[in-house]
Amino acid sequence: MRKTFSLEIFPPKRTAPIETIYRTLDGLRMLQPDFISVTYGAGGSQHAENTLDIANKIQNEYHIPAVAHLPGLHLTKVEVSSILEQFAKAGIKDILALRGDPVENAPLPGDFPYAANLIRFIRGFGGFHITAACYPETHPQAESPAADFRHLKEKVDAGASRLISQLFFDNDAFFRFRDIADALGIDVPIEAGIMPVTNKRQIERMVSICHVRLPPKFVRLLERFGDNPVAMRDAGIAYAVNQIVDLLIGGVSGIHLYTMNNPYVAQEIYNRVVTLIRA
Ligand code: FAD
Repeated sequence: MRKTFSLEIFPPKRTAPIETIYRTLDGLRMLQPDFISVTYGAGGSQHAENTLDIANKIQNEYHIPAVAHLPGLHLTKVEVSSILEQFAKAGIKDILALRGDPVENAPLPGDFPYAANLIRFIRGFGGFHITAACYPETHPQAESPAADFRHLKEKVDAGASRLISQLFFDNDAFFRFRDIADALGIDVPIEAGIMPVTNKRQIERMVSICHVRLPPKFVRLLERFGDNPVAMRDAGIAYAVNQIVDLLIGGVSGIHLYTMNNPYVAQEIYNRVVTLIRA
């Protein structure tokens, strides 16, 4: 079966010159991704504009399918309806429906306490393909791995027809997760989220936010190259390439690359795996 290859970017600060995003997209378009997803800073409806703006460019200027992230925790049903209308008007047909994380002092209307509530709502609204997030090493707030799988199944039953995983550095964790999902009848494609780590600071931040495990080999890599920026960049690229090759051998449905808006790193990885992805 054909593998999906997709990319994720985040909207640059609104104060950044417009060329910033064009430079990123110009660098990424030649990777011919199946889609580019655009993150959305949770915390209120005003953030929708940033995501919409970039997704619109991807879809209508670069002619690459765009996936818009949408965290529902701080939004009302009225706000979500209005955002969906704007997405639909721009021809964006795919939403990554998320709960999001609580933002201090942002209103909590309670319409979408979990991603499954938002997925059900979007499905009722109609006209969108819905993607959801999954966590090979269990979501940090889950009561237990079993409960997390139960809630994941709820998202698929509610209408998510594709899953994108949280980043991970241990492929065995991903394969174990995929096998259990399969056994539970979670029968939608699961794209593996791969983040090339190209500097030490980035990984410290990621570990504290995402609670992912660092395998001993990765820790040794950080110890050996972490203080040498160029060596660390190249080692991070090589680690991501090895992960992707192993995932492809293991029959993964697709690869979702967290690009961190860095086209150079994405291109380096793409050049080394493109024939394997398309084989
Ligand atoms: P949910 O699926 O709702 O799960 C959240 C937690 O609640 C889990 O622990 C789950 O087990 C539990 N749970 C679910 N349903 C129930 C229930 N009925 N009862 C009790 N517990 C329940 N965040 C952003 O703000 N913007 C982004 O653009 C963004 N993009 C992301 C992209 C990907 C690929 C991933 C993996 C994450 C992204 N996130 C983003 C982060 C995400 O919002 C957080 O990880 C958030 O904490 C969980 O979102 P979710 O949609 O997975 O939540």
